Amino acid sequence: MTIQKILQEVFGYGEFLGPQQAIIEHVVAGGDALVLMPTGGGKSLCYQIPAIARQRAGHGITVVISPLIALMHDQVGALHEAGVSAEFLNSTLSMDEAAQVERRLLRGDITLLYAAPERVTTPRFLAQLDSLLERGLLSLFAIDEVHCVSQWGHDFRPEYRALTVLHERYTSVPRVALTATADALTRADILERLQLQDARQFVSSFDRPNIRYTIVEKRDATQQLLRFISNEHRGEAGIVYCQSRKRVENIADLLCDAGIAALPYHAGLDARVRQANQDQFLRSEGIVMVATIAFGMGIDKPDVRFVAHLDMPKNIEGYYQETGRAGRDGAPADAWMCYGLQDVVTQRRMIDESPAGEEFKQGLRGKLDALLGLSEVSDCRRVRLLAYFGEASQPCGNCDNCLQPPTIWDGTDAARKLLSTIYRVQQMSAISFGTGHIMDILRGKKTDKVTQFGHETLSTFGIGAGFSEVQLRGVLRQLIAIDAVNVNAQAFNTLQLNDGARAVLKGEVAVQLRASVSNPVERKARRSASVGSAAAKASAALDDLGQARFVALKTWRAEIAKQHNLPAYVIFHDATLSAIAERAPLSLADLQGISGIGAKKLDAYGQDVLRVMARA
Ligand code: ADP
Ligand code: ZN
Repeated sequence: MTIQKILQEVFGYGEFLGPQQAIIEHVVAGGDALVLMPTGGGKSLCYQIPAIARQRAGHGITVVISPLIALMHDQVGALHEAGVSAEFLNSTLSMDEAAQVERRLLRGDITLLYAAPERVTTPRFLAQLDSLLERGLLSLFAIDEVHCVSQWGHDFRPEYRALTVLHERYTSVPRVALTATADALTRADILERLQLQDARQFVSSFDRPNIRYTIVEKRDATQQLLRFISNEHRGEAGIVYCQSRKRVENIADLLCDAGIAALPYHAGLDARVRQANQDQFLRSEGIVMVATIAFGMGIDKPDVRFVAHLDMPKNIEGYYQETGRAGRDGAPADAWMCYGLQDVVTQRRMIDESPAGEEFKQGLRGKLDALLGLSEVSDCRRVRLLAYFGEASQPCGNCDNCLQPPTIWDGTDAARKLLSTIYRVQQMSAISFGTGHIMDILRGKKTDKVTQFGHETLSTFGIGAGFSEVQLRGVLRQLIAIDAVNVNAQAFNTLQLNDGARAVLKGEVAVQLRASVSNPVERKARRSASVGSAAAKASAALDDLGQARFVALKTWRAEIAKQHNLPAYVIFHDATLSAIAERAPLSLADLQGISGIGAKKLDAYGQDVLRVMARA
């Protein structure tokens, strides 16, 4: 059976996406591959179709290594829905259930077996693989989320290191490794750690054109977030990332109080609560998950309409991976981030205080600065983002800067005034002071503290009166980023001059800043004209009768999903339901060829769908 036929019959899709075909052909033929594809690019089929093709050709089982135990149930469920024999082995199974899966494994009558890396590398499991290999029934290893092997990736997992056993012990078994994030450093690390130097690399464009990037300066973060959700994403599913567990809880409460259905998720919650919240997010519509970065890897919910960062993440890889969870279905989605001086200070402090070596810390600082740079740019965000991953592109027309170009101002003068003030204060008082006090002096405010220390007599007192506090904070952020100023975490976050200050004071480096854009009203008006809610979008082309059919289909789908204990999109995507509603099928033949309806689903649900159509 050709791979086209598998795509059509099993998954119900008419065409491959992007490089899928080339990858699948290579892997089916037994080649090793490293696949870099953005989230939503269709990585799963790159090992699922080879697994099916190779199993049918008598090569046996594909072992899928994934760190995502909490999602294996749904992933395997989705394969069952498509009529593919798949199982998982992890700690959620009872002894009996695991033993049953193992028996089937040893018989070789599973097409895909999902397991976590720590399970795969146990002596017991390796012995089972040995037995399969001896009988020629070990077909392929698929290593998902392979960036976990690298300490440069944003989600290093030591268990991944032990996966070297796969190529050492099973030299003849091909491997396909996949990830959605990897800058050059991470990529090189993956190749070396897993000895994949000879694997063919498939690097897709990392662009996600349907995602609109917006980065705003923090004023009152929670109000900004509320406005963003209420104005642009009411009733839609989204993820809000926060830096700490406590903040997650607070924000989830705040959103609920504002009438937005929100749930918390962080590593400090009881495992059962976490799983329940995740299930609810996946299975219901329009839930906002407020989470730490503990949430999200492998979440394949297609209709997440926005990802908001309420605090600045650590680096661009993390940011891109997290924002990538929006809009997997290709419909318009938002990546919104709010950042401020405090974020930079906090992140810097976490790096400074970490036990890592200095060289490693330097690497982390560089990555943080790249993200800060992205936040402060005044030209296209996407061009910058893609450039970070080594991809050249043109201004996108779908980011805040493209849509509403900010004005630039030259902050060099302000920067020098700020640095001089820090310097003079330190000289005069022999101690350092925090941001607020330095700003007060610069702007010529005679506060109690200022007079107490006699700082109104400094030659720099009031020389920055022409700048707003927002402007000065922007300047300070830049100065921290270029190491001209150090925020001393050990001494009440006081400001001190650092090595980079000299060049700025001497006028050798210019400090360019974006003027704050404060025009959210106009933005809102434009948005609501161009982008409606996702559900409206999926069914936008439908007339009234079509809409009624669409709604009836969704109700039916929710019922089936509940019976099968799976998320609704695993049964059919919105796009598939919309296509059915449009076609208004009268017979099974009418359903054939609709994207997302494979042979198994046609067989299992075709009559049901026709009945729903007859009644709607
Ligand atoms: P990734 O793992 O790369 O983030 P997935 O494998 O989850 O992406 O695929 C993203 C979405 O695209 C899924 O909903 C999947 O069903 C869909 N998809 C994958 N390949 C195709 C294809 N050839 N045609 C249509 N839809 C596809
Ligand atoms: Zn742009």
